[in-house]
Amino acid sequence: MNVELQHLTKIFPSRDRKGKEVVAVSDFTFTVPDGELIGLLGPSGCGKSTTLYMLSGLEKPTSGRIFFGPDDVTDLPAENRGVGLVFQNYALYPHLTVEQNIRFPLENRRGADKLTKEQMKERVLEAAKLVQIDTLLSRKPNELSGGQQQRVAIARALVKMPKVLLLDEPLSNLDARLRLQTREEIRRIQKETGITTVFVTHDQEEAMSISDRIVVMQAGVVQQIGKPQQVYDDPVNLFVAKFLGTPPINMFRGRVEKETLYIGDDAVLSVPGAPDGEVEVGIRPEGFLPDNDGPLRCRLRNVEVMGRDVSIVAENGALETPTLRAIVQSDLSLPAGGTVRFGLKPHKVLLFAKDTGERIRFGEARNG
Ligand code: ADP
Ligand code: MG
Repeated sequence: MNVELQHLTKIFPSRDRKGKEVVAVSDFTFTVPDGELIGLLGPSGCGKSTTLYMLSGLEKPTSGRIFFGPDDVTDLPAENRGVGLVFQNYALYPHLTVEQNIRFPLENRRGADKLTKEQMKERVLEAAKLVQIDTLLSRKPNELSGGQQQRVAIARALVKMPKVLLLDEPLSNLDARLRLQTREEIRRIQKETGITTVFVTHDQEEAMSISDRIVVMQAGVVQQIGKPQQVYDDPVNLFVAKFLGTPPINMFRGRVEKETLYIGDDAVLSVPGAPDGEVEVGIRPEGFLPDNDGPLRCRLRNVEVMGRDVSIVAENGALETPTLRAIVQSDLSLPAGGTVRFGLKPHKVLLFAKDTGERIRFGEARNG
């Protein structure tokens, strides 16, 4: 089922008389395609949770509409929307067993929706199997690891057979290894069930790795929507370019003169169509090619061998950070010390306007 957001806006009144109101979400329009997993991504406070709560019905939009399939659900209470919600803190009932926790949402059903004991048992077991905790049903939450507790919370959301699954930073309380494992699990469960899912996270790597599409937000405003690779390769502005990627994009002060890009005194790249003037230059770590005749001259600081590839840490006077980090294949001949020179892969070099941070396109990318 499609989930459609139309001009969705949430303004919180100021908490005191003097304070300013907070525009938590501003004019958010997007259709989540049926069966997709959307990663809602951005720094803390950018409006991710508020968006999710409006979808769930826990928060009422100031303006705008929400559709589930053909139905306008904007004024429908949370319990009638058929959504499954999972939060960062698992919020399980400590005195209930795993089985009772998962069954809880089914118990107060009335009328046509009422289930028999047998039906409930079946549904609980099915949900527990899906998240692989069916052997832990008689335990209490405090007898489970964090990862297991989060699985129970996910099972509790799934047992209702929701039309839409909403996850708010579900992995934040888990340690690094469990986080990795559980995110793969969530992806598997989502694919198996085909439930349209919105996954909120501030972790770009997490969003990139499991989403069909990501939505990057800043200060309540959607910056860009697209497939993870496409947004990484072709960010619309400096904010998106800096927010995506580990190690992060390397930023230089540069200038364009007669369709040539300069970093310091080095003419580093031909940039057909780019207007003259000072620019912000972003170069992805994988955009550098060590080359004794390369145009970009840097001082070598360090070479870090990381198995499959090698990280070259170097200095350059035009850098906006103390050092740059280039990721290159380990079978290349590496500089030993002193000056290191780089050639640049054109599609890994991104230009941005100094005042607005908007992308300046050049070459073939200009029209696409
Ligand atoms: P995120 O989940 O991306 O960290 P939130 O959606 O929680 O961000 O918050 C977005 C903005 O709205 C923040 O500035 C936050 O302080 C503000 N906000 C959230 N909830 C309330 C509320 N109930 N009252 C006032 N301001 C709020
Ligand atoms: Mg939040």
